Amino acid sequence: MIQVQRPDRGPAILKRLGEKQTRRDYAAYDLCPGDYHSGKNTFPNKTYYNREEVKSLLIQVHQSKCCYCEQKLRTPAYLHVEHFRPKRGVRQARSQRHDDLPGYYWLAYRWENLLLSCHDCNCKFKRTLFPLANPADRARSHHDDVTRERPLFVDPVREDPRNHIRFNNDSPEGITPQGRTTIEELGLRRLGLRIARVELLNQIRTEYELLEVAAANPGIPDLEALAAGARRRIEAAMQPDAEFSSMAIDYVARRGL
Ligand SMILES: [Zn+2]
Repeated sequence: MIQVQRPDRGPAILKRLGEKQTRRDYAAYDLCPGDYHSGKNTFPNKTYYNREEVKSLLIQVHQSKCCYCEQKLRTPAYLHVEHFRPKRGVRQARSQRHDDLPGYYWLAYRWENLLLSCHDCNCKFKRTLFPLANPADRARSHHDDVTRERPLFVDPVREDPRNHIRFNNDSPEGITPQGRTTIEELGLRRLGLRIARVELLNQIRTEYELLEVAAANPGIPDLEALAAGARRRIEAAMQPDAEFSSMAIDYVARRGL
């Protein structure tokens, strides 16, 4: 994971239609809060967050990468608009049998709660899971204060994930409780990811071999040109738009460039 730099203000539709719907949801909740906690009533899912202008801005600022696993997916259909705090129900632990209702309905259309993720991170792993360091702090309605919460998932917009997760070769290692929970619960060591990361790491290792050959045989123009190309490719692998760039950054930091 890397920190994602993005504008504070989201697309206009979230303000124009999302805020209006949120105010309606507030009023509906306040009429009969118990019905929303029991599941007798549910909020309409207007999916304004999934409109083209929202998704395309997320794809642009997240550079077509899943905010959790850093897979780069060029087909927009494979990228999901993800709610950091789940909008329609929430679980503290995977072992919990049912969602706590009604979820963070008041953040369903809020730009600061929207991220971009791949299908697997969103739908297979995270789902409605949102563990907190202290579950008693959980905000259960729009009257509660989410800033009291200490989420155990790393938020790639508000904090630098590299303070929580570092790579040992292709393997992500949690260096804080948030880092460890994020890796474990989002399946960041799943087989498909590991294979893709090993392939990239092998490419970077090959570039280093080129650099070593060039360093051992100075003054050969062809080799110097090859080494310059290898250096450029290694630097490109560390850029925010590159797939698995956090792994590349940690690998290069260990070997030097
Ligand atoms: Zn992912």
